Formats: sequence, structure tokens, C-alpha cells
Amino acid sequence: MEKSLLLGCPVCGTKLDIENMKTRLEIVCDTFWSKKFYFCSKNCKQHFFEDPKIAYFSMEIGIANDIPTYSGGLGILAGDIVKASADLKLDMVALTLVSRKGYFKQKISSNGDQQEQPHNWDPSEFLFKIPKTATVTIENQPVEIQAWLYEHRSPTGGLIPIFFLDTDLESNTPEDRRITDYLYGGDKKYRLKQEIVLGIGGTRILEALALKISKYHMNEGQSALLTLELLKKNNLNSEKVQNQCVFTTHTPIEAAFDQFSYDLFQELLGNQYMLSTVKQYASQENLNMTYLALNLSKYVNGVSKAHMSYSKKIFPGHHIRSVTNGVHSFSWTCRFFRQLYDKYIPSWANEPVLLVRASEIPNLEIWNAHLKAKNSLFNFIKTKSTVALDPNILTIGFARRATGYKRSTFIFSNLNNLMEINKKGKIQMIFAGKAHPRDIEGKHLIKEIYRYAKELEEQIKIVYLENYDMSIASKLTSGVDVWLNTPIPPMEASGTSGMKAAHNGVVNFSILDGWWIEGCIEGVTGWGIGPHPSELVTVEERRKRELTDLYSKLKYLIVPTYYKNRDRWITLMKNSISKIAYYFQTQGVVKRYITEAYLL
Ligand SMILES: *Cc1c(COP(=O)(O)O)cnc(C)c1O
Repeated sequence: MEKSLLLGCPVCGTKLDIENMKTRLEIVCDTFWSKKFYFCSKNCKQHFFEDPKIAYFSMEIGIANDIPTYSGGLGILAGDIVKASADLKLDMVALTLVSRKGYFKQKISSNGDQQEQPHNWDPSEFLFKIPKTATVTIENQPVEIQAWLYEHRSPTGGLIPIFFLDTDLESNTPEDRRITDYLYGGDKKYRLKQEIVLGIGGTRILEALALKISKYHMNEGQSALLTLELLKKNNLNSEKVQNQCVFTTHTPIEAAFDQFSYDLFQELLGNQYMLSTVKQYASQENLNMTYLALNLSKYVNGVSKAHMSYSKKIFPGHHIRSVTNGVHSFSWTCRFFRQLYDKYIPSWANEPVLLVRASEIPNLEIWNAHLKAKNSLFNFIKTKSTVALDPNILTIGFARRATGYKRSTFIFSNLNNLMEINKKGKIQMIFAGKAHPRDIEGKHLIKEIYRYAKELEEQIKIVYLENYDMSIASKLTSGVDVWLNTPIPPMEASGTSGMKAAHNGVVNFSILDGWWIEGCIEGVTGWGIGPHPSELVTVEERRKRELTDLYSKLKYLIVPTYYKNRDRWITLMKNSISKIAYYFQTQGVVKRYITEAYLL
């Protein structure tokens, strides 16, 4: 036990002097799941273990860079929600898979070919194995599931247990031991097994741990099988199940919904759940996880206002709300800006709405903090790349999963225009992102960027950083000058990396899609690209206007402001903090979940 550290009581936050076992009264220590927990009073102890909790289910959770159980925005969001919930001392537990081989480690050859390596990690190094298991039946065989505990603790004292589910037990067949190895790996059968472990196994683990649950929150549809388990427990009373379930959908188009054939469903689960009942909620043709979650949740939300409107069209008759995503402010603010906020906006970390006051920070200090972040990124790049970047040059960052709709090569649509811009004021670019191992188009995009980097090498320096992860994401979203995003609307349900950028005074330049429709005040918080979604335009017309905006705003607004009007640029940076970051943060998101969904 860390002796000198004053832990907070996870329920009320009272500082606990564990060395002397004292607060005002005596500290209460108790052992649960073979692990010691400390509280300031019996009352708080009782509250922690006996009061009903929110169970937050997510196929991926990105809680720390060393725990590679995430692939992108969905997992990072889940981690940020856990962090904000801990800040707010919410009664929550989270569940995910242990993904012993992670998503994957990305290597890229010199001509841009992605190679994937397993990202092996040892749960015992970071997590505590709980001596309790649960069992699910797959293909008529029992599969035993164990849970690893990660205690996420906020400086406020708040503590959220995350349970990482794991089938790698000697009691299981060699094949079943591998179910929780690869995040989003394998074929349909492998994926459905994973979802059985997460949804059904997760619910049973909670029961095995004797935790009372008030709400089951499904972050995306992969955990939706939990609803079948709840239906069974509630004698098929769907209303009772709906009252316990909350569903956050992240997918804007139907083709991308997670689906399985009923043949596969029956092959794996036999007659454990009545097929006619399942079909009633998960659609007749296919086991559609989105529909299953949607039909059995009283509260359903999309992740931005635009995403809510699209979802309403896909699911007529359903009441869909919108809670726009956010990021965990403290986690995504680099140390230089943390220092600045500590000085001018004390207590911002636990009350990020206070960032609204960023306009009071002196320009010079904003600029100096930014330069430090930029230099720190550039020093990192020196260790990774032979391309020499110059910190005095306007730097554009683009990093996200490499997949078709994110259009990472959009800026290379017209190289002549790009050179023209570069003549007005020099630019350079940094890219990063992994393509899913089976996403041929995504891999091709990476190769294309490598090709453009070579082609433009004499004029415009372009770096592609390998193995995009949380750590690289923080460096990039704080160290570049402009954060670019060019998805095909309406595919970006929300997007969050631009919110990270805003927390560090990095200015957004993006297609008007997802969160940016709400975040963009043209010329004030950054710039939009392309028509507003309310304008009805053809696909060709849209693309034409997107390209016009992309190149003309770079040439006539962004480059000249950056080089010739530094004060105006710093105002844009401050506006990014005071008009974007203050609002697009997960404490706000969690507060809305509490009042609108959890207390429902
Ligand atoms: C924030 C983050 C994302 C999400 O970025 P988007 O631009 O919203 O897609 C993906 N991957 C990592 C590692 C991140 O940190």
C-alpha cells in the first residue's frame, strides 16, 4: 500500500490517512473479491458494496496507454466516460474483454505497407485477478470466464472498478481459451463468441460478484446479448428490461450495424434463448445487435445532434436523444496547458466548464505553452522519422483509424493547389492511424500517403507515425497547429480527436459532420469545410464545394493568419478552449447520462 499517499474515500472523497488508519473517525477497511478497500465510514462502505450501480458495457475500453484493449474512438470514449464518472464519484462498474493480444501493433514498411503484430500484454502486470468466475454455454460446452480488476481512481477519491473478462483458463478447451485474445479479430463465429462472453458472461460475472445493478449501459451494440439474459431473469417482461437498459448507438448507417445469422446464433447458443423471442427484438432476418439493444432500452441516444437525426430516420417510431461525445479534459490536456490552466483557471480539471474563462489568459503565455508542446512533439518525431520537420512551419495534423470514410488522402486531391498554398506560406503535415487487418482500402490509404510524401518530399514535408495509440494521440493533438478532419458525411457519428485538439489550443479545420456541426463557429472556433448538412446538394456538388473550401480557406485564411496575424491566430486558439473544450468534455456527458438516463 502506498503509505504516504492520502487516498480519498471512494464514496465521499474524505481524505484517508491509511498509514495511521485515521480520518476524523476510524477508517473502515474490508476485503472484497480478495482485495482490500478503504472507506471513511461504515456507511460509505455499505454504500459502495450494497447500493445499486450502473454497469457500463463496452467491447473496448482505452483507459491507459499500456493496456491495449482499444482500437479507436469508441474505446477511448469508454475510457474517458469511466474517468469522468470516477471524478464525479458515480456508482459505476465497467465491463470489457481482456483482449490479451490487444488490437494489434502496427509496423509500416518504407513503401507504406502495414504489417500487423500481436500486441501481447500481461494482465497480471496491471490488473488484479478476482477469484470468482462465471460460466456461459457455447456449442453445448461450458466456457468459464474469469475477471481481472482494474481500479480507476480519480484525484477526487472516486473509484470505478473495470472488469476485464478473460476465457484463458485451464478448464476451457484450447480453442475457447483464445476467445478473448484479439479485439475485433477472427471471423463471425469468433466475434459472436466474444459478444456472448461480454454480454451474457458479463451479466453473470456481476451476479457472481453479488453486485446490484440499477442500469445496464450498452456502449454500442456488441454487448446487446445481455438483454436476452435480462429477459430471461424477468420472465420475458420486456418493459422491466427496458427500464434497466440504456443504449448508446455510434453507427450512422444501417450497413455497418453488427449482425449475425440466426444459424450461427443457434449453432453457438442452441435453444438457450427462444428464437421467436429473439427475432421479435433483433429483427426477423438477422440477429441485429443494434435493433436488439434499441428495442430493449428505454433510453437510447446518438452521439451528436446530426447523428440523432439520421438515427431517427433509420429507426422511425423510436425516441432517440442526443448526447454529443466529449473527452476527459485533464487526460487530453498536455502538461504545458495544464500548468497554464492551473495558474489562471484553478480547479478547471474537475470543473472543465471553467475553461470558458480561457480568454483571460495572456496571449504570450498561450503561444509559449503551444510552442513547448510543438517542440515536444517534434523531438518525439526525431526519434521516429528521418524526415526533418521545422517547428517554425505551420503544421497540419491528421490522425485517426485508416478507413475509407475518413478520407485521409482528401488533402492530396489536387497537388497543384497544395503547392500553391505552400508558396504563400510553408506547410508540413503529420499523419497517423491503423487500418483494420482486413480493411484493404484502409491499408491502401496508408500506402497512398507514403507515395504522396515521397512525391512532395522536396516541397512539403510529410511524416506518417507508426502505431497510433493514446500516447501518440496526445502528442499530436497538442503539438500541431491545425487539426484536420475530412470524413464523408454523415459517416462521422461524432468524432472526438478534434475536441482533444481544442483542449490544447489547436485549431480545428474540418468537414461539417458529427460534433463539428455543433462546435464550429466559422472563423471564430476554426473553419468548416463543405456545405452545412441542412443544404441539399448532390454528391458531386458536395465534393466540389468541399475541395474549394479546403484549398481556398488554407490559402486565404489559415496560412496568412498563421504567418501574418499571430494575435488573431492566438484568439482562435483561445476560442477553441473557451468555446469548444469547455463544453465537449466527458464530465458534461456523464452529468447528462445521470440526469436523463440513469435517474430515469
Ligand atoms: C481520440 C482517439 C481516436 C478517435 O479519433 P477520431 O478522430 O474521433 O476518430 C482514435 N484513436 C485514438 C488512439 C484516439 O486517441
